[in-house]
Amino acid sequence: MSFKALPAGATIGILGGGQLGRMIAMAAARLGYHCHIFAPEKESVAAEVSARFTNADWHDGAALQAFAQDCDVITYEFENVPVAPIAALPQELLAPGTRALEVAQDRLNEKNFVLSLGGRPAPFAAVDSRADLAAAIEQVGAPGILKTRRDGYDGKGQWRIAGAADAGAIDLPDAALVYEGFVDFECEFSVILVRGRDGEVRFWDSTHNTHEHGILAHSMLPAPAIVGNQVAEARALAGKVAEALDYVGVLTLEFFGTAAGPVFNEMAPRVHNSGHWSIEGAVTSQFENHVRAIAGQALGDTSRVAERIVMDNLIGDEALDLAGHLADPAAHLHLYGKSEARPGRKMGHVTRVFTEGS
Ligand code: AMP
Repeated sequence: MSFKALPAGATIGILGGGQLGRMIAMAAARLGYHCHIFAPEKESVAAEVSARFTNADWHDGAALQAFAQDCDVITYEFENVPVAPIAALPQELLAPGTRALEVAQDRLNEKNFVLSLGGRPAPFAAVDSRADLAAAIEQVGAPGILKTRRDGYDGKGQWRIAGAADAGAIDLPDAALVYEGFVDFECEFSVILVRGRDGEVRFWDSTHNTHEHGILAHSMLPAPAIVGNQVAEARALAGKVAEALDYVGVLTLEFFGTAAGPVFNEMAPRVHNSGHWSIEGAVTSQFENHVRAIAGQALGDTSRVAERIVMDNLIGDEALDLAGHLADPAAHLHLYGKSEARPGRKMGHVTRVFTEGS
């Protein structure tokens, strides 16, 4: 069934109420769309900039149905939305579809899916017991990282294992796990693409990403040659993933750049922190193109507007010095409006676009 492009004034539903939803809603507002946020948390930085807010539990079927009735399309800013309640909504409203959530919510599914498409994840094995862990270390080798299959993000729910002796000391959580070999990588980078309803795919330039304490700290362009050399193979895989899922919207795949080529780490069926630079640094940002794609409109130009672009995340109290950030004439400041600057919390970001001579 062909999707009729949404006219200005239509309503975009967003599942999840955080900063990614906030930036999608701000891009949608510029195009004349209204946003309706659905989130279980009372405080929502996305709702703050949106027309409507439903504050209800993911499993509140009546609230979800009422929300769906108000929306012309529904998307996600958070990949761990439970699939069962969403599956009860009219599926033609959802972009991307629930299959993308199902794959991306489970690290084991995600790796198997990517393998089936010819991609290369780190060697891995499922772990459901202490005996499985010993067998996994034997099979995959050490060092490695044990991760929860579900609900992990920014390095949470992960245990580094130097050797078999470490395994006994870990207090195994009551959750399905996956053990993966430690990748000796030279860099980390992501591929961000947008796929339209007609199947057209466009990519943004891949940034070089650096992490601190498992959290993205900086995204930089141009990326060094080690990233540039791997991008074509990584994009080919990302394109296959998008096509296999009949994906609509922005999709992110994260990679380790290694001497043997790109090793897939994980995917996110949504806009991504490593694409925030695109707000000022690309002709069309990831947020605007996500809106365009799900609304059935033509995709915008993803090319970057300057040779050198740097995005720095503001974590915890790094965001508190508003006057200091505003005093830098090169800094495009984005604060997410969160009330409490807890350590490790993403509070905002700053992008600097360096044109020739600046
Ligand atoms: P993740 O939540 O899986 O993205 O992991 C958070 C960070 O931990 C990554 O960005 C890497 O810096 C590191 N990491 C995760 N998995 C591996 C691995 N298999 N080998 C080496 N480093 C890893």
